[in-house]
Amino acid sequence: MKVPFVNLGLQHRLIKDELLDIVSGLLDSGQFILGDDLATFEKSFAYLCGTKYALGVANGTDALFLSMIAMGIQQGDEVITAPNSFLASASSIHLAGATPVFADVKEDFLLDPDKVRKAITPRTRAIMPVHLTGRPADMDAMIEIAREYNLAVVEDCAQAVCAEYKGRPVGSFGEVGCFSLHPLKNLSVCGDGGVITTSNEALYHKLLKARNHGLKNRDECEFWSFNSRLDNLQAALLNVKLKKLPEWTARRREIASRYVERLSDTNLVIPVDKPSEKAVYHTFIIQCERRDELKNFLAEHEIDSKIHYPLPIHLQEAAKYLGYRKGDFPVTEKQSKTILSLPVFPELTNEQIDYVCDTINEFLIPYSTQNLE
Ligand SMILES: *Cc1c(COP(=O)(O)O)cnc(C)c1O
Repeated sequence: MKVPFVNLGLQHRLIKDELLDIVSGLLDSGQFILGDDLATFEKSFAYLCGTKYALGVANGTDALFLSMIAMGIQQGDEVITAPNSFLASASSIHLAGATPVFADVKEDFLLDPDKVRKAITPRTRAIMPVHLTGRPADMDAMIEIAREYNLAVVEDCAQAVCAEYKGRPVGSFGEVGCFSLHPLKNLSVCGDGGVITTSNEALYHKLLKARNHGLKNRDECEFWSFNSRLDNLQAALLNVKLKKLPEWTARRREIASRYVERLSDTNLVIPVDKPSEKAVYHTFIIQCERRDELKNFLAEHEIDSKIHYPLPIHLQEAAKYLGYRKGDFPVTEKQSKTILSLPVFPELTNEQIDYVCDTINEFLIPYSTQNLE
């Protein structure tokens, strides 16, 4: 049995006719930039996230970086984020002119509030919790720290659309929530895209200009800015996909619980849900001491797995100027050697999940008996 890591073709096949109708309609109407479909999508997305506003941008990295610029974060400022995230969490801070400062994570891959506190300096302007793997970060703690030190909170929600913390959707806690619509994310466009959520009216109006050349109307430019809009065509496709999102999210959670059930007897570290959260399983990451061997074993059995991410951000060549060293973030560094992402996408079948778990168990059994001898 073959188990791919994702199957984007399959996901689109079921709604293909509807998507094609939309493309055809848009070719006729010629509404390509900042059209009605984008406005409709933004309204629905804000509603979904429990915020007053949402605005589409060109990608998730721009969502982060434009938000920080619009909030006035600049050179000399520091923003605290997680070193185990996708690199764009940090690069966006640099691109906004500020300095990324890392704080280590906990066993659940999410920012450790105690480590965040220790990373605060007089230059700290914001905290960027990353809801990595689709699990909400400890937002009570993040908000408390932010209040105490008068910091902004920029949520990196790229992996976590529809995730909830204490019954409240991510993207509604910080000054802004930044989402990616990259094809591999839980809600995606057919290309690149991103969304920003906020309930701050002034910030919203600043962002509307920031994504559109700094224009305040058709002819008048208030400040030089970027061209980073979400295509109306992509938004129109999203309006169809949004209807499917609850079903897709439910299936991701179902897949995760099936994995948990079938892997709970092993000595692997597996993700656990907390009653106070709803995780949406962008990834399902297990931890195994013999990770590379397990990955190869799965590949030999035609099961695709990935590592998110093998090289922590602070050890990337691009981050050298920040002066971090190996050993600075022990939890992140240890996890980078043991983590393995198993396939989790809505169209994955129960048979495939069981096959993955059987194969993992087959890999582990010889070692567990060796341990007994
Ligand atoms: C994907 C991702 C981003 C960047 O989004 P793009 O749309 O690829 O620019 C940022 N942060 C995290 C955690 C991500 O997973």
